[in-house]
Amino acid sequence: MPLSFQPSPNIARLKESATLAVAAKARALKGQGIPVIDLGAGEPDFDTPAFIRQAAAQAIEAGATRYTNTEGILPLREAIAADANRIQVQGTPVTAAEVVVSNGSKQSLYNACVCCFGPGDDVLIPTPSWTSYFEMVELARANCVAVPGDPANALKVTAAMLEAAATPRTKGLMLNSPSNPTGAVYSREELASILALASERGWWVIADEIYLRIAYETGAQSALEIASSRDNLIVINGVAKAYAMTGWRIGWSIAPVALSKAMTAFQGHTTSNPAAVSQYAALAAMSEVAQADAAVSEMVAAFRTRRDAVVTALKAFPSVRYVHPEGAFYIYVNVEGFRGAADPGAAFAAAVLEEYQVAVVPGSAFGTPGWIRASYATKQELAVEGLTRIARCLTA
Ligand code: GLU
Repeated sequence: MPLSFQPSPNIARLKESATLAVAAKARALKGQGIPVIDLGAGEPDFDTPAFIRQAAAQAIEAGATRYTNTEGILPLREAIAADANRIQVQGTPVTAAEVVVSNGSKQSLYNACVCCFGPGDDVLIPTPSWTSYFEMVELARANCVAVPGDPANALKVTAAMLEAAATPRTKGLMLNSPSNPTGAVYSREELASILALASERGWWVIADEIYLRIAYETGAQSALEIASSRDNLIVINGVAKAYAMTGWRIGWSIAPVALSKAMTAFQGHTTSNPAAVSQYAALAAMSEVAQADAAVSEMVAAFRTRRDAVVTALKAFPSVRYVHPEGAFYIYVNVEGFRGAADPGAAFAAAVLEEYQVAVVPGSAFGTPGWIRASYATKQELAVEGLTRIARCLTA
C-alpha cells in the first residue's frame, strides 16, 4: 500500500528556513533573467582568502579525504582554543577539550539545544532573533519564550526583561551579539548583567558569536571575556561570516567538557566529523593569524563602508525607521502599517520583490512581523540601490 507522508510529531511545527527560502527564490528569479537585488540571506560576497583556499588544496593532496575524529582534528581545536585565549578570557584558559567542531555554527547551535534542553523546559529567546533559534529549540522539544526587545534600545533585551519573562521551568537563553537580524551590539555592561543573572539562576547561556569580529563602533565583547564562570556557558562561533567561508561549513562550540563530550556523542550519531578538507581550511584561517587578521580587517572595513553608505541612503527618507547597525551586515527596517496588512513584513517583502526587484527577509521569520531585514553583504552600489528602493516602496 502506498505510504503518504505524514510529518512525525518531531517536525509537526517545523517551518522552512525563511532566510534560505528567500535566497533560493532570489537565485531562481535571477536564473530566469530577472535582475533581482538580493539582500536576503546573510552571505559575504567575498571569496575565501587565497591562503585558506591553498591550504585546503594542499590538504586534499596530502590525503585529507577520510574520516577524522568526530569532534574535529586536534590541531584545529587547539587553534580555536588559542584564538579564544587571545582575548582576555575570564578564569582558566580555554582548552581543546572544550571545543567541538561541527558542520557550521548552525550544527553547533543545534547540538547545544538538543543536549541542554528537552520537554518541559522553557528557553528565553530575545526577539527579534535569528530564525533558526526558534526551530532548534522546538526540535529539542523545549518551549520557546520570546522576550521582546526594547524599541528604544535597538531592540535589545536587558537582564530585567529576561528575569520578568522567566518561569520556574526556564532552562536557558539564546544570546546573540552582534545580532542577526538587527546588527545591534550588546555593551559589556549589558552582557555582564545578563550573564550574572543566568549564572545566579543556573540557566544555560548559548552565546552565538558568529558576528563577533564584524563590529564597527567599539569592538563586540565575547561572553568569554565577561562571564565569571564558564560552567553554564556555551559559546558558538565559526569561520563562515568573518572569513567569507559560508560554503565550507565549519563552526564550533566552546562548552564545559562534560557537555562537549555529550555533543560529540550526539554528533557521532547524526553527522560524524565535519568535512576533513574544510577542517584543514579552517585550520589555516585560525592559525595563520597575521594573514587571517589582515583579510578579516579588509573585509570588515568594506562592510563598515557599506554600512555607512546604506545608512546615508536611508537618511534621505526621514520617515523610515531602522535599527542603527553597529555590527554584522544586516539592517532592520520598520514596516509597521504597510498597506494595512496583517503581516506587514511579509506583505512588504512580497511587494518590494514584485514591484522593485529587491529580496529581503520578512520580520516574522525573526519573531517581529512589523519589520524586514536587508543584508548589505553585497556590492555597495547594489546595497545602496536596494535600500533606496526599499525606502521608496515604504514611502510611495
Ligand atoms: N545566517 C544567515 C542568515 O541569517 C545565512 C542563512 C541562514 O543560515 O539562516 O541569513
